[in-house]
Amino acid sequence: MRFPLALTAKIARHIVKHKLLRTSKFALVLQLEPLHTCNLTCTGCGRIREYSTSLKDMMSLEDCLASATDCDAPMVSICGGEPLIYPKIEELVVGLLEQRRIVYVCTNGMFMRKKMKDYVASIYSPKLEPKIAKLLEEKLITDKDAETIRKADEKARAKVTIRPSKWMYWNVHIDGLEYTHDLIVEREGVFKECVEAIKMAKILGYQIATNTTVYKETQVQEIEQMFEFFSSLEVDGHTISPGYEYDAAKKDMVKRLNKQPEDFFLTRKMTREKFAKIQEWGERFTIFGTPVYQEFLAGKRELTCTAWAIPTRNIKGWKAPCYLMTDGHYGRYQEMLEKVDWNKYGVVDGVARDPRCENCMVHCGYDPSGALGTNYQRGDNWKNLKYNFSSKPKAYYEGRQVNAFNGWSIGKGHLAEAKAAINSAPTKGSNGSGCASGDASQHNDLLAKITNKKDA
Ligand code: SF4
Ligand code: SF4
Repeated sequence: MRFPLALTAKIARHIVKHKLLRTSKFALVLQLEPLHTCNLTCTGCGRIREYSTSLKDMMSLEDCLASATDCDAPMVSICGGEPLIYPKIEELVVGLLEQRRIVYVCTNGMFMRKKMKDYVASIYSPKLEPKIAKLLEEKLITDKDAETIRKADEKARAKVTIRPSKWMYWNVHIDGLEYTHDLIVEREGVFKECVEAIKMAKILGYQIATNTTVYKETQVQEIEQMFEFFSSLEVDGHTISPGYEYDAAKKDMVKRLNKQPEDFFLTRKMTREKFAKIQEWGERFTIFGTPVYQEFLAGKRELTCTAWAIPTRNIKGWKAPCYLMTDGHYGRYQEMLEKVDWNKYGVVDGVARDPRCENCMVHCGYDPSGALGTNYQRGDNWKNLKYNFSSKPKAYYEGRQVNAFNGWSIGKGHLAEAKAAINSAPTKGSNGSGCASGDASQHNDLLAKITNKKDA
């Protein structure tokens, strides 16, 4: 099966239950942001900007767990900021698993190895020596780490840790191969750390997914190579979504500067071009997301936004209308459902109800729309079911040949190059919103300059 049976069955049961109850709107995935602090400062990241005044604030553990109960989504995606900075992250993961939810920990990968070392220390016995030997052989831990694990004291053994579970995935943010990824996250060595964390997670039996945002300057060929490379590491799945810009002021720029939208952001047309091969990717790799959403991304059908199905909860409350736009925060999920005029958002028959929605095709607005939205077509449920139950694509071991380490690892430090490129070209403005799947203009800008410089 492409996805574990228990997980597929859980989600199917949730949808069927609400269909039978005729619930018009309900949550499928909770995007939980316990904090907005991050150890990175990725180009264009809106989370660390939109919430810059509340970076030090965080939700209590109780509030986080109560939010999951409040919306009762079967899946919870813990994001942020960087969720591994959240002091109670272990308790949060354990608490959500105890609530019998499917948990995704969306991380930039920098603290994963530390968390996994804590786990190994907490369960250490001589039986684990073969795994420790493997981790040492692959240089994923040091001799000193191994000694610390072996000498774990009572406190280390009693520590709550994030353990491998069929109900939990590490979801690692990867936006390209080494050069591109390190450039976007603005720190050299991050890609390498992510790869090492992924290798370590696989040895220890965790489930791993990658999470990629496609920007205007993202090369489709690089995305394919990235899938090939991570498939060779036996990654369990990939989420992929188009980058998004909603700054209505850019509309104004079109008017005032007489520029075409294509000059500076990923339009629907461009998204469809970039994702033209997504169904083919879905056959070759374990792409998370429904085939109906894949058809939408490839431009083969329309969908209406169902942002209420993937709600976001953070320190300020339930964020409406969606993960990307903030028109208000509400105390309870039901209150948000009732008070927001959902008919004001999305694109219907090619017409944007809100200008900010015009170019949005992101997964948190549209992935569940085939099953839950108004564009349901006969056979959609069967199509989704067939996709989930079909056999999982085999690992693509030829992907080991991909030149993934094409930047910092081979002494091609991009930061100096990026700085030179930035200094040599004027900078366009950006409203800087969105974490990973948010505002793309700064990423586009930076990547365009690098591409131009390379071409030159
Ligand atoms: S995009 Fe994610 S990893 Fe990067 S700075 Fe923002 S919160 Fe941190
Ligand atoms: S179309 Fe996109 S931006 Fe608009 S409400 Fe839906 S998810 Fe949000």
